[in-house]
Amino acid sequence: MATARTPRIMILPSPGMGHLIPLAEFSKRLVHRHNFSVTFVIPAGDSYSQALQKSTIDSIPSCDCVFLPPVDFSDLPGDTRAETLISLTMLRSLSSLRDVLKSLVSKTKLVALVVDLFGTDAFDVAKEFDVSPYIFFPTTAMTLSLFLHLPKLDQMVSCEYRDLREPVRIPGCIPIQGKELLDPVQDRENDAYKLILNHTKSGAIKALLDQTEPDNPPVYLVGPLTNVGSTSSHVDGSELDCLKWLDDQPHGSVLYVSFGSGGTLSSNQLTELAMGLEMSEQRFLWVIRSPNDMVANANFFSVQSQKEPCAFLPKGFLDRTKGRGLVVPSWAPQAQVLSHGSTGGFLTHCGWNSILESVVTGLPLIAWPLYAEQKMNATMLTEDIGVALRPRRNENGLIPRDEIARAVQVLMEAEQGKDIRRKIKHLKEAAANTLSENGCSTKALSDVATKWRNQATQLDPLLS
Ligand code: UDP
Repeated sequence: MATARTPRIMILPSPGMGHLIPLAEFSKRLVHRHNFSVTFVIPAGDSYSQALQKSTIDSIPSCDCVFLPPVDFSDLPGDTRAETLISLTMLRSLSSLRDVLKSLVSKTKLVALVVDLFGTDAFDVAKEFDVSPYIFFPTTAMTLSLFLHLPKLDQMVSCEYRDLREPVRIPGCIPIQGKELLDPVQDRENDAYKLILNHTKSGAIKALLDQTEPDNPPVYLVGPLTNVGSTSSHVDGSELDCLKWLDDQPHGSVLYVSFGSGGTLSSNQLTELAMGLEMSEQRFLWVIRSPNDMVANANFFSVQSQKEPCAFLPKGFLDRTKGRGLVVPSWAPQAQVLSHGSTGGFLTHCGWNSILESVVTGLPLIAWPLYAEQKMNATMLTEDIGVALRPRRNENGLIPRDEIARAVQVLMEAEQGKDIRRKIKHLKEAAANTLSENGCSTKALSDVATKWRNQATQLDPLLS
């Protein structure tokens, strides 16, 4: 039972459910295994997203959340990139963060502030209050390696990375085409690139590079942190319906199709996907959002579709696929869907949480990257570890229906699909090992918890 003396960790996630969910999992472990309290300080979003965030946090004991006031973006042009909006949300929330931090420091034993990559500007605020700042980096080592390398790459390369003839060599990783690097580095004149470059030059990341520095910040490999099998996941009425539908499907027969918490397709692509799923004659469960012809992350700040998404499906599609396919608007209980016995494959936008959830449930993948670092993740999945198929886009940038149908059939039925299934089962075992009682992740988490507890003891010797 937490008291005012229980050491507390403050967590500042950047906007987006994909950023909150792994931090919520991290918190569960801090609370259950190491007896900390956690306060989430969350930048304001729309009411649907806030309700989803609040229910995720409220399901964790000794964990509470404070929403920061909304920030003003009236000075920004309408086409400002999502990454810029995320960085500026964090930057413009610093003074309200300072108020919350001040109040928590006066009332609780606050030992650390954990931010994600977009929150590094909060490091200075944490230091003002003598609270240790940490970055939680919930994506691949490849992305981290690129971030560490980016300041150098920025100096070495004068053109756009996508125009490089040779693949980019990120230290320790397979060579990757410049066009596959994460979205915000694709236009070096854009503010989003400059902001990312600044994050990679700042604070802890810069210190990580300095091998001669004896006080290098330590790195704790605490993943994979997923909500699969989590007892406190929140599932409401309509979400239960889709799990009930899965109960009636044959074992391993259903392809789950989802583009994460914010991904959207263009209208034409939505049609091709529907027709491709229909042509594949496989069973599917598709989380659908209304299309957007401008950007692929139209729902990033609000997971709920603006319009009724099913109205955009090809005529007669729902009738023709009835019984074999289920379409769920906006949001599904993904962790439960992936761990359901009827689910046999996952067509994913390659968000890192989705990939990890697939690894821990041992599901083979179709990689359909949309934005952020998802193309890098797709390259790693297909060319490096071989656990995904990647359907190809045509000259118009669309993945056509026959290409989709073929990928779905191969994944669910063909020998190549079985090979991928075998490989991902190995990864599943590796993940289970690292998360087991004596596994590396469990030990890394315990190391960081011990460090924080020692700090708490210095603040309050009665805790020892
Ligand atoms: N998610 C979910 N239901 C949905 C869509 C997404 O529960 O309908 C969860 C999913 O399980 C994952 C997170 O939202 O934990 C999405 O994170 P990811 O890194 O895959 O993608 P992002 O949304 O950040 O692009």
